[in-house]
Amino acid sequence: MLTVTDVKKSFQSNEVIKGVTLTVKKGESFGLLGPNGAGKSTLISMICGLIPYEGGEILINGKLVGKHHKETKQMIGVVPQDIALYPTMSALDNLLFWGKMYGLSGKAAKTRAKEVLELVGLTGRAKERIETFSGGMKRRINIGAALMHEPQLLIMDEPTVGIDPQSRNHILETVKSLNEQGMTVIYTSHYMEEVEYLCRRIAIMDEGKLIASGTKKDLANRLAGGTVLKIAVDTVRPQFIEQLKAMDGVEKVIVLPENEIDVHMESKMETVSDVILLASRSSVAIHNMQLQEANLETLFLQLTGRSLRE
Ligand code: ADP
Ligand code: MG
Repeated sequence: MLTVTDVKKSFQSNEVIKGVTLTVKKGESFGLLGPNGAGKSTLISMICGLIPYEGGEILINGKLVGKHHKETKQMIGVVPQDIALYPTMSALDNLLFWGKMYGLSGKAAKTRAKEVLELVGLTGRAKERIETFSGGMKRRINIGAALMHEPQLLIMDEPTVGIDPQSRNHILETVKSLNEQGMTVIYTSHYMEEVEYLCRRIAIMDEGKLIASGTKKDLANRLAGGTVLKIAVDTVRPQFIEQLKAMDGVEKVIVLPENEIDVHMESKMETVSDVILLASRSSVAIHNMQLQEANLETLFLQLTGRSLRE
């Protein structure tokens, strides 16, 4: 469905996409996970042909983005990070407008708008103006707008940022069911739970590069240590950290801001008591400790030394 090969992008002299390669198969749900500023929106804009790319190539169903803009545009429905709707127009009129933009006839657009309103759960609000909607409802209409022309590939850029939990759940369920019905989905987020829930394959992006990609299982296999012991201490003593790293059962130690330390470990209980013993022998006071199963967030931390949400 989509192949991106060694694509780059610079703004002025700042290279923000540093050679990205990825493939999305038909019917797949593909997650692009990365912190703010990683380059997710820029990559999506290039896939959608909204901004030109440098080097490499982007193909959608074998058609080169840029050269075959009309065809590739028709295959994609994009839900941009920033809402693109006319506030003084009704939800229905916004959908009809987008239908027309994608070449639907008046009648076809009306029929489709009804289906789309049903899908996003806002049939009852069709005639109301967008400016009276909550953030979550606007998002849902924006998703509806991307679905008007029944695209083969739906690309969503952080569609749940800053909205109420009810709309968030509705969006996640809608995306899940669209994918189950055969639509190919690319879902971008810095929320690892969403990507983990929706997507079969995931690429983790940071500073313009993909730093890991694969199925959830592939990524889990890359994790050092199945469990993370998070401790908060009064002072981070270098010697204590060195001794932690050398400890049996400890795979990796990451020092975080505000005197927090993540200890990635193989086995749980023994190591936990060893860590406590070592702390007390080193005169390090532990204020707080917490055990966490390793997940995509932990993998990101292992690969970059930073948290996804910093
Ligand atoms: P993300 O969507 O992952 O948060 P973006 O793709 O929005 O990341 O941004 C990646 C980097 O590119 C950021 O450093 C951002 O400041 C920069 N950037 C994005 N768009 C522009 C632009 N139009 N002009 C200059 N810099 C930009
Ligand atoms: Mg973005």
